[in-house]
Amino acid sequence: LIVLENVNKWFGPLHVLQDVDLSVARGEVVVVIGPSGSGKSTLCRAINRLEPIDSGTITFDGRPLPAEGRALARLRSEVGMVFQSFNLFAHKTILQNVMLGPVKVRKEKPAAVRERAMALLDRVGIASQAEKFPAQLSGGQQQRVAIARALAMQPKALLFDEPTSALDPEMVGEVLDVMTSLARDGMTMVVVTHEMGFARHAANRVVFMADGQLVEQASPEEFFANPKSERARDFLSKIL
Ligand code: ATP
Ligand code: MG
Repeated sequence: LIVLENVNKWFGPLHVLQDVDLSVARGEVVVVIGPSGSGKSTLCRAINRLEPIDSGTITFDGRPLPAEGRALARLRSEVGMVFQSFNLFAHKTILQNVMLGPVKVRKEKPAAVRERAMALLDRVGIASQAEKFPAQLSGGQQQRVAIARALAMQPKALLFDEPTSALDPEMVGEVLDVMTSLARDGMTMVVVTHEMGFARHAANRVVFMADGQLVEQASPEEFFANPKSERARDFLSKIL
């Protein structure tokens, strides 16, 4: 579904993505781990073209990423993204936040969207909070709203960039539970996270990045039991 070939990106002199090759099959869950500054966020952002690349190719669903216009808007709705900061609209209710994309961007009928949005809020366990405003919810609840909002666009894939890093520890589990359930239901997901429990239990594949390179990719069983590179061993020894 997502194929990156020989992707390179520079920020000035800094070579943040170096000859990156990665493919993510439909229904696959790929967890990306690696030290701070290794290019994980840049990789994620490149996949829905929040960050243009300098060379190489990225295709989504068989087509090169569009650079602009309607095609780019369509890509962004097909590849949802969930960030560390929830980015909800503070002056809109939870339900309005979830309905906004389909109604404003895709011009769908509000009545149908409302029904789907309520079902999604129910799915992430916060239907009872639909009429509240984001500030009235906990961080974990807000992040579950952000996931429901991404799902409301009926994406073909979801990208998560450290979705639990800004949360108090007691709220991490409720967000990971929602993500695990999406993974089980066959959603294609690329997840940047430091939650190794999630990587072990929900990932089909773990990708280890360092200094802009994909150093190693393996199943979680293989990766955690027997990391091949020195850098991966070093990284794991620091976080586990
Ligand atoms: P973290 O774990 O801290 O989130 P990361 O692996 O997500 O790190 P990136 O955010 O992708 O790393 O950044 C990779 C490198 O590119 C870093 O050195 C960062 O400082 C740099 N960088 C990121 N965005 C920009 C930008 N817009 N302009 C210049 N440099 C940038
Ligand atoms: Mg990052």
